[in-house]
Amino acid sequence: MSVEPMVYSAKSRVLPYVALFGLTFALTLGGILARPIESLSLFWPVNAVLTGVLLRYPRQATLLGFTLVWLGMVAADLACGSAWPPALWLNLCNLSVIVTVWLLLSRLPRLHRRMRSPRGVLSVFGACAAGATVAASLACAMATPWFEQSVRATWLAWFSEQFSTAVLLLPVLLTAPSTRALVRSSAQAVAMAPLLVLLASLAFSIAFGGPGAIAFPIAALLWCAWTYSPFLVSLLTLIAGSTLIVAVAQNLMHFSVPQSELGVTTLMSARLGIAMLILGPLVVACVSQTNRSLLARLAHQATIDHLTGALTRSAFSRRANALLDSRQKHAQALPLTLMMLDIDHFKSINDRHGHGVGDQVLRLFARTLQDQLHGGELLARMGGEEFVVLLPGLAPERASFTAERLRRAVQDLHLAQGDGRLQITVSIGLDGCAGHEPAPNLDDLLARADQALYRAKAYGRNRVEVAKAQRQVI
Ligand code: GH3
Ligand code: MG
Ligand code: MG
Repeated sequence: MSVEPMVYSAKSRVLPYVALFGLTFALTLGGILARPIESLSLFWPVNAVLTGVLLRYPRQATLLGFTLVWLGMVAADLACGSAWPPALWLNLCNLSVIVTVWLLLSRLPRLHRRMRSPRGVLSVFGACAAGATVAASLACAMATPWFEQSVRATWLAWFSEQFSTAVLLLPVLLTAPSTRALVRSSAQAVAMAPLLVLLASLAFSIAFGGPGAIAFPIAALLWCAWTYSPFLVSLLTLIAGSTLIVAVAQNLMHFSVPQSELGVTTLMSARLGIAMLILGPLVVACVSQTNRSLLARLAHQATIDHLTGALTRSAFSRRANALLDSRQKHAQALPLTLMMLDIDHFKSINDRHGHGVGDQVLRLFARTLQDQLHGGELLARMGGEEFVVLLPGLAPERASFTAERLRRAVQDLHLAQGDGRLQITVSIGLDGCAGHEPAPNLDDLLARADQALYRAKAYGRNRVEVAKAQRQVI
C-alpha cells in the first residue's frame, strides 16, 4: 500500500495556508517599514490584498485561514518591536476589515463579486465602506489608549485610510484575469493615447494644485475606462489615486484646509474624495466591457449557426457578395462554383427518431462537409437541412468531383441509433462559372443551383446535378 497520495494531499492542503501566513507577514512588514514613525501608515495594503486573495481563493477562507492572517500580522508587528497588547488588538481591527468585506462580498454571485456589473462595483464600494466603519469603530473602542488623537479624529483617520486603500486596491484583485487570459491579452495591441493623456493630466493636477485639481484626471480616466479592460482600468485608478494621495500628503498640490472641529484633515478629505472619484471610471469600465462582450456575442450569433457551426445565411450572403464583387472589380480570371445541398428525407428522420436525433444528424452532416473541404470555401446553413458551399477557384466541371466526394462521404456515415444504424444521403445541385466568364450575381447562382438540386431530387435523390451542362454528372 502506498502512502504517497496521502502525503501529497496533506501537503497540498497545508501549503496554501503557509503561503497565506507568509504573504500576510511580508505585506504587514512592508506596510510597517513604509509608514512614517509614530503615525498611521499612508497606505496599509495588507487588508485589501488579503481580502482580495481570500475572495479569489475561498478554499482558504476558513477559521484557520483568518486566524493565520491575524497571526501573520501580529508576528510582523512583534518582529518590528511592537508590544504584545497593541499588536494583538490593532491587528484584530485590521482583521475585522478583511472579515467584514469578505462576508459581504463572498455571498454575491460571481458576476457581481468579480465586478462585472455596475451593481458589483457599487457592492465593492459599499462593502469597503462597511469594513472601514467596523475597523474604525473597533479601533476607537479597543485601542484608543495607543493613539494620541481624540476618538473622533482616530475614527476618521482609520476610516479614510481603510476605505480609500480598499477601494483602490481591491478592484485590481477582483478583476485580475487568470494567467492564461493575461498572456492571451498581452499579445493584443493596446491603444496608448488614453494612458499618455492620463499621465499628462496627473502631472498637470500636481503642477496646478489646489483642491479642485484632484478631479483633473477624471476625463482621462473615463477615456481609459471605455478603452481598456476593467483590470487595466483598476490598475490605472490605483496608480492615479495613490499618486494624488501621496501628492496631497506631501503638500505638493499646495492646498490645506484648517483642521475642522470634527477633526477632519486635508488628507482625510482628499483620500475620501479621490476614492469616490474613481467610482465613475470603474462603473464605465464595467459597462463598456459588458457592451463589448454583448456585441461580440451578437456578432458571433449573426455569423455562426449555433447548431452546426456553419455560416448563417446572412453572413454567407455578405461574404459571397464581397468575393463576387472583388472578382468583378479586379477583373480576375477566377472560376467559382456554388453547391446547394439538401439532406434526403430528413423529415422522416425527425418523425422516426425525434428532433434531438435530427439535430445530431445536422451537426454530423455539417462536420463531415467541413472535414472534406480545405478551408478556403464558404460553408453555410441556409435553413433547415439545406446547406450551400461556395468554392472559389473551381469551375463547375471540376467542382462536380468535389460534390461527388461530399455525397459519398455523407452516404458512408453511420450513426448508431438504438439497435440499428442510421444512414443518410444528400442531393446536390451546383452552378458556377469558368475563369473567362463574367461574374454571375449571387441570387442567379443560388437560383440555378437550386434548380439543379430540384432535378437531383426529381431523378431519385442521392445524386449530383450540374445546372449549366444540364446533364447528370453521376
Ligand atoms: P427531401 O428529400 O425532399 O428534401 O425531403 P425532406 O424530408 O428532407 O424535406 P422537408 O422539407 O419535407 O423536411 C425538412 C424537415 O427539416 C422539416 C423540418 O421539421 C426539419 N427541420 C428544419 N430545421 C430543423 C432543425 O433545426 N432541427 C431538426 N431536427 N429538424 C429541422
Ligand atoms: Mg431534405
Ligand atoms: Mg429542404
